[in-house]
Amino acid sequence: MTDFVTATTESLRHAAQILRQGGLVAFPTETVYGLGADAEIPAAVARVFAAKGRPADHPLIVHLAGAEELDRWARDVPAAAYDLAAAFWPGPLTLILKRSSRASDLVTGGLDTVGLRVPSHPIAQELLQAFGGSIAAPSANRFGRVSPTTAQHVLSELEGRIDLILDGGPCQVGLESTIVDLSRGQPVVLRPGGITTERLTEVLGSLGTLPAATAPRVSGALDSHYAPRTRLILVPEANLAQQAEVLASTGKRVVVLSADHSLPLPAAVERIKWPAEQSSLASALYASLRAIDALDVDVALASLPAEQGLGQAIADRLRKAAAPRPEDNG
Ligand code: AMP
Ligand code: MG
Repeated sequence: MTDFVTATTESLRHAAQILRQGGLVAFPTETVYGLGADAEIPAAVARVFAAKGRPADHPLIVHLAGAEELDRWARDVPAAAYDLAAAFWPGPLTLILKRSSRASDLVTGGLDTVGLRVPSHPIAQELLQAFGGSIAAPSANRFGRVSPTTAQHVLSELEGRIDLILDGGPCQVGLESTIVDLSRGQPVVLRPGGITTERLTEVLGSLGTLPAATAPRVSGALDSHYAPRTRLILVPEANLAQQAEVLASTGKRVVVLSADHSLPLPAAVERIKWPAEQSSLASALYASLRAIDALDVDVALASLPAEQGLGQAIADRLRKAAAPRPEDNG
């Protein structure tokens, strides 16, 4: 049985109690909804993997109440980590650091590093305060699917599999945290997200690049992820209308996702209107990917935004949503 409640002081106290007993609580953060368990109860963390259907070698992010908790979970912390924490915590930034003995193999997926973040969402903050410990939480969706940006999204995927969903309205950033690896010398971005590369560079001066062969097990780094069930095809913006017409003329039911609301499309082609402004698109992106599946069309068409600022993370998620699925290969 999954309880679905509005986040209040009372329900947050109840949620903290569930966490202490090893239960699972979905809660809003500024990025996406998280599926939380007490990071120090191995059986609780194991339930997170079971509820999501997530492979056990994918690490979880540990959510902390404040930056002062960082040294409890990590060791040999470089100065750059404190600089980033001072600049962007609380906020949508995850730091990968060498793990302390507090971080179990279950939380880290057997890696010698741990992912840490201090969320800024007032409900996430209040939950962490009421709970008093640290919360291991990946996104509250089934593995490989689109991350949830409303409590209803969580309910539709995890009902019956978790104990409680705290409804705190839609998430503001709407994309997952930026992940920066500080465990291997030069800081490297493993996943673009809510904190832009431009802002990281302002603090760090420069960023390293990741040798492809050493790419770590970040589920966001899988080719196909964040994917709607409907096939999504990326086409250059100038060809959107024409591609839609060609597909529609072969009898395909088509939807076009675009910020150009006056794009000339055949009457039979559906339209999902993206906001023009970048941060508004980021917060609406996942709901728009879910809306594709609700339309019952054969194919969705979209174009990549310019890859500056949040456009980097938006383009990253769209490429993964459009990537060939494992099931495409049999
Ligand atoms: P999610 O919240 O669903 O985006 O999942 C958390 C993300 O953080 C996943 O992509 C993890 O693989 C990644 N992550 C967590 N800890 C680590 C780590 N120690 N090294 C690399 N990636 C990590
Ligand atoms: Mg996820």
